[in-house]
Amino acid sequence: MKQVLITGAAGFLGSHLCDRFISEGFFVIGMDNFITGDESNIEHLSNNPNFKFINHDVTEFVRIEGELDYILHFASPASPIDYLKIPIQTLKVGSLGTHNLLGLAKAKKARILIASTSEVYGDPLIHPQSEDYYGNVSTIGPRGVYDEAKRFQESITMAYHRFHGLETRIARIFNTYGPRMRLNDGRVIPAFMGQALRGEDLTVFGDGHQTRSFCYVDDQVEGIYRLLFSDYAYPVNIGNPDEISILDFAKEIISLTETNQKIIFKELPTDDPLQRQPDISLARKLLNWEPKVNRREGMKKTFESFKELPKEKLYKREHKDFTNHIKK
Ligand code: NAD
Ligand code: UDP
Repeated sequence: MKQVLITGAAGFLGSHLCDRFISEGFFVIGMDNFITGDESNIEHLSNNPNFKFINHDVTEFVRIEGELDYILHFASPASPIDYLKIPIQTLKVGSLGTHNLLGLAKAKKARILIASTSEVYGDPLIHPQSEDYYGNVSTIGPRGVYDEAKRFQESITMAYHRFHGLETRIARIFNTYGPRMRLNDGRVIPAFMGQALRGEDLTVFGDGHQTRSFCYVDDQVEGIYRLLFSDYAYPVNIGNPDEISILDFAKEIISLTETNQKIIFKELPTDDPLQRQPDISLARKLLNWEPKVNRREGMKKTFESFKELPKEKLYKREHKDFTNHIKK
């Protein structure tokens, strides 16, 4: 049985990846320190004989007994609110954490895939973003803690590939959503859906003309799975090119949730990218992959899952005022 280590296993993407690899016949070791994750995301795996969980902070030396064939490094805060609340941990998990996992991959002769992000393009000056674009990132801006950690992560991964001949894969993930996102993590989809469920106004930041392109989790997991088993070491965009402005998206959520909430406008966070849309030509060609789930279908499934959450999760307030964290 092939063994795979998935870091960030108690998080949104990590937990879905654990499910996928178990269903494909792998033995999965999940690792997490719960800094932004939730035990309930992997509760259903607790008695699965093909799953083992290790509670560990990957910025500390990572020890795994026995053989390891694959590593997927997904540990990192991913919501802007989260990484602004814990900036040093964010920098450490992208840099020291990645270094530890690359060292482990080298020792075990394992192939490693790292979760990079569209944030390496920063506030992009070209549109849509293709992999050959170098990006427009402020090193010292509030989002720099995440963006630069991820850029360093890509650099050190390529260095291990070139210098040590390590088998590496880099997924540049664009905004992905679905069940198991933390309802109060501050990202726009759980934020709007939580507001709709609580009967609150939807908070659009800025004038809402900034755009995003949302990918359903099942499509994302499929893209990552195919990338891991490809033979391509350079970065590949994985996301859904269906682009929408945040204001139109808020209106869509109101219609989808059949609520009559108002839209209110709040200050645009510093360095909030004004447009984002993946060019997925490379993934289409290389992986024969493209997203299959349209936004309405994906949002419906996500909303249904949020509706089932217990009241204490719906009303748990983690951030008093989102924008205050994101100012200079
Ligand atoms: P998430 O916050 O739900 O999951 C991240 C998990 O990593 C959490 O369970 C957290 O506890 C764990 N973690 C963080 N630091 C750790 C550490 N030092 N040691 C061990 N565990 C640690 O976020 P997510 O949306 O699932 O994102 C997962 C990965 O995908 C991240 O690397 C993120 O940068 C990347 N990504 C996600 C998206 C997206 O839209 N979801 C987009 C781009 C990139
Ligand atoms: N956003 C918003 N209202 C919210 C949360 C987010 O208008 O309550 C906006 C945010 O300013 C950004 C977009 O939605 O333009 C996506 O934000 P998110 O935090 O999901 O992730 P990002 O793509 O910025 O990393």
